Order: sequence, then structure tokens, then C-alpha cells
Amino acid sequence: MVTTQQAIPFLDLKRVNAAHDASIRAAISRVLDSGWYILGNEVSCFEQEFAAYCEVKHCIGVADGLDALHLILRAYGIGDGDEVIVPSNTFIATWLAVSQAGAQPVPVEPDEATHNLDPACIEAAITARTKAIMPVHLYGQPADMAPILEIARRHGLKVIEDAAQAHGARYLGRRTGGLGDAAGFSFYPGKNLGALGDGGAITTNDDALAARLRMLRNYGSSIKYHHEVAGVNSRLDEIQAAVLRAKLPALDAENAARRRLAAAYFEALQDAPVLLPKAVAGAESVWHLMVVRTDRRADLQAALSRAEIGHMVHYPIACHAQQAYAHQTWPDLPIAERLQGQLLSLPIAPYMTEQEVSRIADVVKTALR
Ligand SMILES: *Cc1c(COP(=O)(O)O)cnc(C)c1O
Repeated sequence: MVTTQQAIPFLDLKRVNAAHDASIRAAISRVLDSGWYILGNEVSCFEQEFAAYCEVKHCIGVADGLDALHLILRAYGIGDGDEVIVPSNTFIATWLAVSQAGAQPVPVEPDEATHNLDPACIEAAITARTKAIMPVHLYGQPADMAPILEIARRHGLKVIEDAAQAHGARYLGRRTGGLGDAAGFSFYPGKNLGALGDGGAITTNDDALAARLRMLRNYGSSIKYHHEVAGVNSRLDEIQAAVLRAKLPALDAENAARRRLAAAYFEALQDAPVLLPKAVAGAESVWHLMVVRTDRRADLQAALSRAEIGHMVHYPIACHAQQAYAHQTWPDLPIAERLQGQLLSLPIAPYMTEQEVSRIADVVKTALR
């Protein structure tokens, strides 16, 4: 008898949200029935709930993660002529946030083993124009924040966390979102806490920054039709805030499920010829992505595709090598360039089973034997 194996998609969002079906439908109905669709009760309740979750004073809902990062820079007055240190390996939004603010992204290489910004490389990139460091908690693992914060303090720089991949992760016991001066989150559907469309938020303990951001996101206005600054329209929708409120209570359990799956991957792949990410000391990852490294990526991709197992590359082209940034000359970034050719993301999602992980690991081991 031939047993047919079920395909394993890279990420099945319908299945992610099916776990919250009743509460999401109730949340959407509540907004529909309220007759209030922008900056109402759902957004302010979500802001309070997410601030409490991140263990910070303030949360400000915005349209998406890119806006969250960009508006933090604007609110700090970082722009023309200023430089912001960013990782050389990240999703392009980190860099675009800096560019949109009118400032210059200055790439610093990651620690190759953890994929996160290497604190030892930061000081060489600081100039008289540097205003901030923007570490990314890449793939769900917090960056090595203690040395980053120490360098920032010594040079008078802001630390802005790109926490778009790390909702709920901890560093030395504390949640991401409260580790630096301010943090940007994304609620893009595929993130660990995802909406049914775009969404984002800023978290901070800085009262003045929070007040300025509330104004900036809403046409620069805190009193209707009174505009103190030339702000933007970047608001989290009531309907998305209601959906996020329905999903937030399960986030810790979903992150715990991701951690169990990651442990299963580590166990199953311990002798396989792939490099697994190394833990940052003191960091507790939420495993947004399960990324392995191999110099035989094409073989692995082919084998996974044959076995109907989803896979992706995060990210195939480093930011400085993108056409969008081709008009500038960049320093040599050999680590980012090496990683873009070797990284491969395997499926990880809260609904997956350890059996599926072991099946995927078998395909990986057979492919690279
Ligand atoms: C998703 C993401 C963003 C941007 O979020 P959007 O909501 O898509 O704008 C920023 N930085 C990183 C690292 C991301 O993964």
C-alpha cells in the first residue's frame, strides 16, 4: 500500500487564524455594530493591552511596521544629514524607515552565528552624524542588547528596536519592545501576532515621545482640526485592533509551541550538515522563522520541493545589493553577502506537530547526505 504524505506548506495563515475563528468573528462584528471605525475603543484597548504585554508604559497603534519605525525617527527629529546604524542583514523595511526619514542607513555586519547585529562592529561605524542604532531581533531572537545599549549610552545615541519579528521574546527576562528607547512592531498577517491586513505599533516608556507620536500618526493633530505639526495618516484600524485583541491572549502559548518545534528541529538536525542559529546569551527567541545555513542550498531546496515541503529564503538579496540602494556605494559586507546565498527557512508555525518536524528533518538529512 502506498501512503501519500500530506504536503507541508511554508505557512498556512488560514490555519493560524482558524484557531481563533469564533473570537475573531465576534471582534469584527463588534466593530461593525459599533459604527466607529477609526481611533476608537478597540485601538485604545489594544494599545493598553499590548503595552501591558510588552511591560512598557505606552503603545501607539499605526498603519504598519515600516511606519512604526519611520515615525519613531521623525518623532526624535532624526532626518536630513543624520546617520542611523542598521544591520546589513534584515528585511528592507529597517533600511527604508531610515531612508524615508531622510537619514542615511549605515550598515553593520551581524554575528554570523546568531544572525543578529554584532556589537563588536558597531563603534567603527559611529560618526559625528550618528543619531541612533536600530537593532533588529531577527527571526524572533533578541539582539545582544546589553552591549548595544552600553555603546549607545557612551555615544549619546537612541536605541530603536525593530521588533517586527519578535513579539513576546525576552532578553534577560524582559520583553522586546521595552529594551531600548522605543520599538516598532508589525502585525503583518504572517508575523507571530498578525492581523487580517496591515497593522503596526510603537512601544516606549518615553512620555514625550508617545505624545508626539499620537499627534504625528493622526495628521499632526491632538485636537480635531488643530494641526501642530505636518503629520501623516498612519493609524491602526479599529477592525484590525479588535482582531489583534482576540489573538493576543494566545500569543504566549503560540510562541511556546514554536519553541517546542524549534527544539525538535535542533534535536533532529544535530548531526545534519546544516548550521543552526546560535543563541544570543540571555535571549529567549520566539522563533518567527526557522533558518538553517548550508552551502548546498539548491540541493536542499530541490529535495524539499520534491517532498512538497514549503521553504523560503529570508532574504535572498541583502539590502545594500538591492536595486533600490544601487545609487550609493557601500562598504564591503561579506557576511551579509555570504548569508544571502546560504540561508534557508523551514516551516514553523504554532499548529505544526513534532512529527512534521521530524519528517522535514529526514528530508534535510537525506538531501545533504
Ligand atoms: C515585517 C517587518 C517590518 C515591516 O513591517 P510591515 O508591517 O510589513 O511594514 C520591519 N522590519 C522587519 C524586520 C520585518 O520583518
